Order: sequence, then C-alpha cells, then structure tokens
Amino acid sequence: MSGSTISYDIPGLERAINEHSKFILTCHVNADGDALGSTLGLKAVLARLGKKCSVIVPDLPPTTLLWIPGAKSAHAYEREISACDQLIEEADCIFMMDYNAHSRTGKLGEKLLSLDKGSKYWVMVDHHLDPVEKCDVMISNPEASATCEIIYDCLRNSIYKDQIDVTSASCFYTGIMTDTGGLSYNSSDPDLYLLVADLLRMGIDKSEIHDKIFNNKSVRRLRLLATSLKKMEVIPGTNVSLIPLSKPVLDKHRYMTGDTEGFVNIPLQAKNLVCSMLLMERPDGIKVSLRSKGDFSVSEFASKYYGGGGHFNASGATMKMAFEEAVEVLKRDMKEYYTAMYGEENKIKEQE
Ligand code: 5GP
Ligand code: MN
Repeated sequence: MSGSTISYDIPGLERAINEHSKFILTCHVNADGDALGSTLGLKAVLARLGKKCSVIVPDLPPTTLLWIPGAKSAHAYEREISACDQLIEEADCIFMMDYNAHSRTGKLGEKLLSLDKGSKYWVMVDHHLDPVEKCDVMISNPEASATCEIIYDCLRNSIYKDQIDVTSASCFYTGIMTDTGGLSYNSSDPDLYLLVADLLRMGIDKSEIHDKIFNNKSVRRLRLLATSLKKMEVIPGTNVSLIPLSKPVLDKHRYMTGDTEGFVNIPLQAKNLVCSMLLMERPDGIKVSLRSKGDFSVSEFASKYYGGGGHFNASGATMKMAFEEAVEVLKRDMKEYYTAMYGEENKIKEQE
C-alpha cells in the first residue's frame, strides 16, 4: 500500500458505496487541486455506478482550477445555501474529503454539525494530522502525499477498480501533483511512483494536466507575484520570510481567488530560508499560509499560536485582527517560536 504501512478500511469504503444511493462529497474552504481532484474523481466513479452524487464546496473554487473535469458542476455552499441544504438533507452518505474537522468548511460545517449524526453514513478520506470528527469509516493517513493518492489507492484495490476511468484518473493525478508541487515535496515514498505509473497507464494526458496546473498564470497574476516578492521581508534574527498582501494591494491587482496559489512556496527557493509565510487581508480575517523545509514544523506554530493547523511543512491559520497588527503579531510570535527552536545563535548573518 502506498503512503505507509497503514491499511486502509477498503471494506468500509465498499460498504459505504454499495449500501447507499445519494452521496454528498465535501471538502475544505479555499478548495485546492487535491480537494477538488479527490471529490470530483470519486464523483466520476460514483456516477459510473449510477449513484446520485453532488460535490459541495464551502466557497467558490478558484477559476484556475475550473478545468478539472466536473469542477463547474460543484456547488458552492455560500452561493446556494438552500439548494445545498436540500441536497444534504436528501443524502444518505456524506464524504469528508481532504479535511478532518467541520470547522474547516465554514458555513457548510455549521450545517453538517447541525445534522443528526446517525441519520447519515459518514466517511472521511484525508491526509491531515489529528482527525477531529468521528466517522463511520475513517480513512486517514497523514503520511500520504494527497487525499487523491489515498482515494485512488483504495478504489484501485476495491471491487470498484473497473469504474476508474481516464476522467477520474486525471482528477486523482491533479491532486497528487498540486499537493506535492509536481512531486517535489511530500513525495519520497517509492510506492507513490508506482501509483502514479498506474494513473499514467489509465491514459491521462500528463503534459496537458501539467500545463493546466503550472503554466496557467495570467500576466495580471504574474504582476501580483512580482509585487509579492518585492514586499517579501526576512524577519530579523530568523531564517523566516513574510509576504504581506493587504487589501489595497490585492485590490490594485484585481485579486481573484486562487491568484496567489503557490506564491508561498517561492521564498523557500532561497537556500537559507527554512520557513515562508504569506498574509492576505480577506473579508473574514487575515489568512496566513505557512510552508517550511526539513524539521521546522509549521503545523505546530499555526495551531499553538492561532488555532490553525495542516501538515508539518504546510499549514495555515486565520488571524482576527487588523492587517498591520497581524503582521506585527506574526513577526513577534515567529521570532519567539524560531528562537525557542534554534536559539539566537543559529540565525543567518545576512540574506543576500
Ligand atoms: P494553505 O496555506 O494552502 O491554505 O493551507 C495549507 C494547509 O494547511 C492545507 O492542508 C490546509 O488544509 C491547512 N490549513 C490552512 N488553513 C488552516 C486553518 O485555519 N486551520 C487548519 N486546521 N488547517 C488549515
Ligand atoms: Mn490535500
């Protein structure tokens, strides 16, 4: 089995699919390639089985990911609350894909929490640390590169393996590529490459998918990237960088959801930096994205200071305060966290 020695509850997944007929597939806010790939790929499999199935995402997916097969059919909860509520009421089985706590799904999570738990069959398929919700079937593996890796691994070893087609395979491949930066991080497991080989054998167009994921930026978006790098600062006394993107800056660049996807990884190209942070002023607070290299845990930082979470090397949180204050608080807290970890000595002398 790919990812680790964990053995997945494949009989549980088969039961969930076999014994139910109306499915809701949900994912976390700010859906990314893995969240959309895993829900839409599974939806394609369920559709081939003649099951009724809707994908409900908490908010509008970024336009840069709308090419993923089926993405335009996903319902954005925030935009169509009553229609989504009806679909949820009618469903007999709900999948939590690529998240493990209802708090990660905004208003959709409030609806899911309000349901009589026993009235639905719940399945979790996820690769984040420390699952919060308890589901009838729990398929959770924090060592997996992506939720797409897990769901594909389960399906290909299940009685439904013949229902995986080139459409669902393309979805699953997309999630693995986006969550690993094109197999550059979180992708050291040799078995993952056998799994990717299987996906390639399904006939997916690897070059086309790669282009759609990585070479899809508008000139406007590249200019926002240029501004972001110009604004990047290294927190004094640390090897940690910070990119502050306030509302006026985002407005000036006519920001749209998804525009900054991948930006937070770029400062880690500097050989001395161990952690990169991106702050964005959003209507619901200040969104912080964190990425790190090696043994620097950003999930611990995000959860300890701001109640956020994610993965060891990729995490996030929301800060509820004014933007300028958030920038200062983040600098102060990170300096404290960094110093506790490395001491004052281990800082680089100069970032050139
Ligand atoms: P991103 O920076 O791409 O939004 O998120 C990086 C990772 O951290 C993703 O796996 C995402 O699910 C997780 N994450 C982002 N924000 C939060 C948050 O506020 N709480 C928790 N628990 N996880 C988060
Ligand atoms: Mn993921």
